[in-house]
Amino acid sequence: MDILPYGRQSIDASDLQAVTESIQSGWMTTGPKVGEFEEAFAERVGAKHAVAVCNATAALHLAMLVAGIGPGDRVVTSPNTFLASANCAAFVGATPDFCDIDPVTYNLDPAKLATDWNSDTRGVVAVDYAGQTADMVAISKIARQHGAIVIEDACHAVGGQFEHQGGHYKIGGHPWADITTFSFHPVKTMTCGEGGMFVTDNDQYAEKARRLRSHGMVRQSEDFCGLGERVNDSSDTALDEQGPWYYEMHDLGFNYRITDFQCALGLSQLSRLDSFLDRRREIVAAYNDAFASNGWIRIPGLRNERDRDLTSWHLYTVMVDFERLGVTRSSMMKSLRAKRVGTQVLYIPVYLQPWYQTTYGYRAGKCPIAEQYYRQSLSLPLFPEMSDADVRLVIESMLEVTKPK
Ligand SMILES: *Cc1c(COP(=O)(O)O)cnc(C)c1O
Repeated sequence: MDILPYGRQSIDASDLQAVTESIQSGWMTTGPKVGEFEEAFAERVGAKHAVAVCNATAALHLAMLVAGIGPGDRVVTSPNTFLASANCAAFVGATPDFCDIDPVTYNLDPAKLATDWNSDTRGVVAVDYAGQTADMVAISKIARQHGAIVIEDACHAVGGQFEHQGGHYKIGGHPWADITTFSFHPVKTMTCGEGGMFVTDNDQYAEKARRLRSHGMVRQSEDFCGLGERVNDSSDTALDEQGPWYYEMHDLGFNYRITDFQCALGLSQLSRLDSFLDRRREIVAAYNDAFASNGWIRIPGLRNERDRDLTSWHLYTVMVDFERLGVTRSSMMKSLRAKRVGTQVLYIPVYLQPWYQTTYGYRAGKCPIAEQYYRQSLSLPLFPEMSDADVRLVIESMLEVTKPK
């Protein structure tokens, strides 16, 4: 029998049909589905612009570029994240730095962000760990006081919302982030295979991100392989002859394009997103019921209880005091695996990675709460296609392996 992974995609007949139709249409790279997906996604999250790219790492890189972040600048993120939230700063020659997390939400702690603020900090990448939004209201207030840009890494939070002063706000569509990035990797809430979205209300950021997605090109004709943006009529061109072949490079860009069939899959998945979110919330509720009164398993904490059914729940991460229980985490993971339950540890504090230690001199002890979190965290299987029997298996197995000997 297959091991239950901590996360996986759900692909049904409608997804397959959408991909097949797109491929049969003849568009293999940029085609009509790209714009359709962007529009539908922008509408769903309540944003003015959405720019689809090949993955969320590219979206984070574009965020740094459009914000003009570069050498001499510092960008602060959470240590409890995937590498890309920090690497994007290094891509543009800035210094990635880390602020410790809140012990309840495992998200960047705004109080520490304020006290540790550095005069060269130009950007904050706030990560919505497990789908729960970072405290964007507090974080943006601190960042904007210092003139820094706020990027929300919402790779875990596709379709998520949060409550603030009685109102509900969509991640990607609220006023406390300048740019929001989403991932469509197969372990995330919905998938394009690989894919990412750069979301903003800012016209200039969106225009620049679009251009940088395709080599910084602007073009004369609609039919130039769908590459680049159209040449602006007012563009003051350095090249003298213009025609239907014509294109200009205005910036040093990249090939961060996504294919038409990936966007066809994205559109189809978007129409299933609510059912994914509902099932995730059901599973989380079952886990919480089973574990809440267990002294050995700490269930995920929320900043705001009213967010329980607004959160997208990409991950279900519990805390176990392995030391007190007298088992190592790897032996517990092995026992769980023998029961068909796969688990994962997300995340190793990024600054402890060898490259970060060598390049920036970061050392253990920098963010004590993130390190303590890392020692005790374990992410359990959570994905929409889990059956009720799968959920029961995870619960029973966890209760079994956390029984003190
Ligand atoms: C998955 C992930 C990314 C990177 O997304 P890709 O689409 O794989 O490039 C960035 N940040 C976080 C928090 C993620 O979970």
